Amino acid sequence: MPQLIALSPADPLAIAYHDYARQYEADFVERWDELIDWEKRAAGEGAFFHDLLRQAGAWRVLDAATGSGFHAAQLHKAGFDVTACDGSPTMVDRARRNFDRLGVDVPVHRYDWQALDARVLGTFDAVLCLGSSLCHLFESEARIAVLKRFRQMLKPGGLLLIDQRNFEAILAGRFTSSGRYYYCGDTARVTLGELNESVCEFVYRFADGAQYRLRVCPIRPRQLQDELRAAGFRAPHAYGDFKPVYDVMNVDFIVHQAHA
Ligand code: SAM
Repeated sequence: MPQLIALSPADPLAIAYHDYARQYEADFVERWDELIDWEKRAAGEGAFFHDLLRQAGAWRVLDAATGSGFHAAQLHKAGFDVTACDGSPTMVDRARRNFDRLGVDVPVHRYDWQALDARVLGTFDAVLCLGSSLCHLFESEARIAVLKRFRQMLKPGGLLLIDQRNFEAILAGRFTSSGRYYYCGDTARVTLGELNESVCEFVYRFADGAQYRLRVCPIRPRQLQDELRAAGFRAPHAYGDFKPVYDVMNVDFIVHQAHA
């Protein structure tokens, strides 16, 4: 079982702990699919992403934070031409095994976002960064640089879909994890550890006693919209739990869409 890690933000090791690849240790990643439950997650999302992509005329899609490959596999099955990438070696390995198991022919590469290169992968109609992934970057400048990189991977006018847990509500003391979206498995409980304007720590407790923690930056939705504009994206627009009209204090996830 992994050790609980208790680091104060002043501890130099905390910086390493913020490193996303280290946070996705092998045994946590082995349980990622148990945490999200592919079937229930697919039911919770319905055709939301497929519809947005089709409305935008997007066919060639880069899933830039594929994790264990959930969206890449769903989109491939729905007929999209998908390339999957992630910077964590354990996640890339897991995605590859999932694609083999499912018999889906999706190319999967290990790329840190900063290393994505349109000269190597080509350009895409849409880039996805889903599952509350961008919050692994703690500095606004670093996020804007990555968003610019995503823009370079898009054809002119291409679509970016990027989501975050609802940190507006979380920072207001209203953390909920309804279990209907994203993390749908019923063998783990998600609670909060440290929470302040700079760090949000999620604690994943499995029924068998295993515990894992993810420390991320609680990016408020408005801040992300500003960063999208600063990176040159047009017309940012947001959905709450996949609905265009929502109460920001009563949704688990915010999905942002913007155009290159
Ligand atoms: N999209 C998947 C899902 O919804 O299940 C995975 C979400 S997981 C919370 C965040 C993912 O972002 C991890 O797989 C992690 O490795 C990836 N990630 C975080 N920072 C990254 C970076 N700088 N470059 C590439 N991948 C990164």
